[in-house]
Parts: sequence; structure tokens; C-alpha cells
Amino acid sequence: MAYKITDECIGCGACEAECPVSCISAGDIYAIDADSCIDCGNCANVCPVGAPQAE
Ligand code: SF4
Ligand code: SF4
Repeated sequence: MAYKITDECIGCGACEAECPVSCISAGDIYAIDADSCIDCGNCANVCPVGAPQAE
């Protein structure tokens, strides 16, 4: 299991700062490295648009 950032992402950057394993990278749509994600849910909790979704 890993989280994935959907097209809803508005690129605010809030999730990147909250990831304990720093596996989120910046972009127009931010991206999660699925191999590093520990499924903690922090990114989903801070996202203003609900873009990170558990797969
Ligand atoms: Fe990082 Fe946790 Fe989000 Fe995975 S679920 S990308 S570990 S903040
Ligand atoms: Fe995108 Fe949500 Fe992360 Fe902001 S917090 S960069 S909208 S996924």
C-alpha cells in the first residue's frame, strides 16, 4: 500500500513538509515515491483538496 496524489492537486506544497520519510516531490502535481511511502496518511490529512488517496 502507498498513497498516490491525484489530478486534484493544486501544488500548494503542504504535504511535502509533513511527510516523515520525505518521499513527496514537487511539481505542478506533486508526486509520491510509492516505494518509500509508509502509508502514514499525513499528506492526506493536510491536503486542502483531498488529492492524496490510499491505493
Ligand atoms: Fe509520506 Fe505518509 Fe503521505 Fe506516504 S502517506 S507520502 S509516508 S505523508
Ligand atoms: Fe497537492 Fe494536496 Fe500536496 Fe498541496 S497538499 S501539494 S494540493 S497533494
